[in-house]
Amino acid sequence: DAKEQGRGQYRFASGASGISSRQRIEVETTIRKAIDENRLVLYYQPQVSSGSAEAGKFNGIIGAEALIRIKTVNDEIIPPSQFIDVAEETGLIIPLGGWALIQACKDAKEWKQAGKPIQVSVNVSQRQFERGHIIKQTEEALRVSDLDPQLLKLEVTESLFIRDAQRVSDIMNDLKKLGVCFAIDDFGTGYSSLRYLDALPIDSLKIDKSFVDHLQNDVPPFSADRLDKSIQQNGTIALAVVSMARSFGLVSVAEGVETIEQLEALKRRGCDVIQGYLISKPLPSDLFRDFLFHEYKQFQTDVIEHSEKD
Ligand code: C2E
Ligand code: MG
Ligand code: MG
Ligand code: MG
Repeated sequence: DAKEQGRGQYRFASGASGISSRQRIEVETTIRKAIDENRLVLYYQPQVSSGSAEAGKFNGIIGAEALIRIKTVNDEIIPPSQFIDVAEETGLIIPLGGWALIQACKDAKEWKQAGKPIQVSVNVSQRQFERGHIIKQTEEALRVSDLDPQLLKLEVTESLFIRDAQRVSDIMNDLKKLGVCFAIDDFGTGYSSLRYLDALPIDSLKIDKSFVDHLQNDVPPFSADRLDKSIQQNGTIALAVVSMARSFGLVSVAEGVETIEQLEALKRRGCDVIQGYLISKPLPSDLFRDFLFHEYKQFQTDVIEHSEKD
């Protein structure tokens, strides 16, 4: 069983509830030390406009999502799946998220000054909405980086709106006054109310990877093949989110796009922005910079390999 398998090795379940208190304390120590010793790093994953997303020709980078990692003393990279839950529980996500905002704004400012004014998206935890932290943190990040606020996009999840909707709405409106943008991350996986799409200052919807995963080439409407497949397998949810975004005047962003088939299906339905391994994995900031400034032959090779599969 799972207990047997887990014995003697460190396996962090994706939900923090699945780990022992000893492991939790270890992770907490890892995070604290990483903060103290400046071993937090941001990776950047490119976002391209779907129109310019073609195999071997990915030159329409309009944004990047900042994704945090911890670097160990041995230069190993720990992914967020191994520490974000513990960071949330302990409240360490608040300083960690504040650091990410500052670093991302500084990097975006540098890209802009080098001639590429692209938007940087930063994931924000609901804990940063407690006691107005997110307002102070955003103000500070914009001040120290001198970044144009429109180049900063805050990614929040639907869970933020479940409790205290009025307070969250007030904070979002205050942030909007600073000029920043908002995306709803993992859209469709949480508490989805159409009401907040209208009521809150939201700019983009990010279609969760789980819906993109089921997108394939369109199947003819009445084929037996189609009858065999559930709605989700046909990618109906992904496509519904694209049209919903459109009717609310929002930008649709697909995350986790891995195949040409998914890209083509999203393009046909008018999805605006593509993010996923098909374009690039998240990259350390120096490699992202190379990608952004078109010095990315090594990445083009990856892309051509993808396109030759079909
Ligand atoms: P997310 O915000 O939904 O980020 C997208 C995740 O999907 C990233 O995982 C990214 O590497 C991964 N991804 C993107 N394209 C593909 C693809 O084509 N295939 C596959 N298999 N995966 C893809 P990552 O970097 O491990 O981050 C996981 C989650 O950790 C993020 O999900 C976000 O919820 C959280 N996170 C990351 N950085 C931060 C941060 O600075 N603050 C907070 N609060 N959360 C963060
Ligand atoms: Mg995100
Ligand atoms: Mg996401
Ligand atoms: Mg996700």
